[in-house]
Amino acid sequence: GFVHFTSFSSQGLTMMDLRAATKRQADIATWVLWDISRCPVPADVDACRVGPFIRRALKSLGYNGDLTITAIGILSQVPIDVLRALSSTGINLHHVPTMYNKSILTSLIMWEMDNSPPANVMLISLQRIFGQYIADLSEEYYVLGSKVPYDRKLEPTVFARRAGCFLWESLLASLRAEAKKDCSGTTSKTTFYCSGCCLDLFGFESFTKHILSKEHALNELDYYPGGVEAGNESRARKEDATAILARLQGFRQARRREEEEEEANYKKQRLEDPYYDDEYDYEAEAE
Ligand SMILES: [Zn+2]
Repeated sequence: GFVHFTSFSSQGLTMMDLRAATKRQADIATWVLWDISRCPVPADVDACRVGPFIRRALKSLGYNGDLTITAIGILSQVPIDVLRALSSTGINLHHVPTMYNKSILTSLIMWEMDNSPPANVMLISLQRIFGQYIADLSEEYYVLGSKVPYDRKLEPTVFARRAGCFLWESLLASLRAEAKKDCSGTTSKTTFYCSGCCLDLFGFESFTKHILSKEHALNELDYYPGGVEAGNESRARKEDATAILARLQGFRQARRREEEEEEANYKKQRLEDPYYDDEYDYEAEAE
């Protein structure tokens, strides 16, 4: 059964809610999709340790198939040293312009279209809407770190907490507790993608140059209400990349505040009615 903070190897590593691979899971591909905007690397954790840690953890649990780890989020807001550390340790970088419209969830749905089952999927996020998505995903894929499909009736928030947020917190706790400071690189090829511009980039330098560029920032404004006008104004004023990125930042902060308000409101509703939004329409959210 599920045991919190199960020791999974003789090295004394711990990681919550991950079961040893079954015979069927052992040799198929494993995908780790990490919502880095909602689950950022804290200041006290060396970013280069995350990838090797996840690799070791999964290996010691018997997941021997190809492993792909992708960090998905608004990567222009992630410190460049963190991005460098992640990509140099084999983590793919996938930029999204917002956490909503063209969102992380859209990227997950696209991932699903590109990767037919069977596969193991480990989703690291905080967002409650992923709860129902994970439940549906588990119809065809092995979703690691969650109780589905055994507890299909579990509330979406509980899904989300078990499958996303909690997994990240416990992963960080295990990583902090581990004495080993493994920052070894990997020979596997890292991919770089900007979903805002639908663009594959080749190499870390060209990727970071792109997500901090003027053209990219102008494209991204389109994803926010009022962004088209802001883009036109930026063009008329002949603003540079820094000024346009600052405008973009303003839109993002406003959206973030809305999210926090929604979340607070949601929690209040849940207290009054525990089954509030059990049928959350995440597909509508992803549009
Ligand atoms: Zn772009």
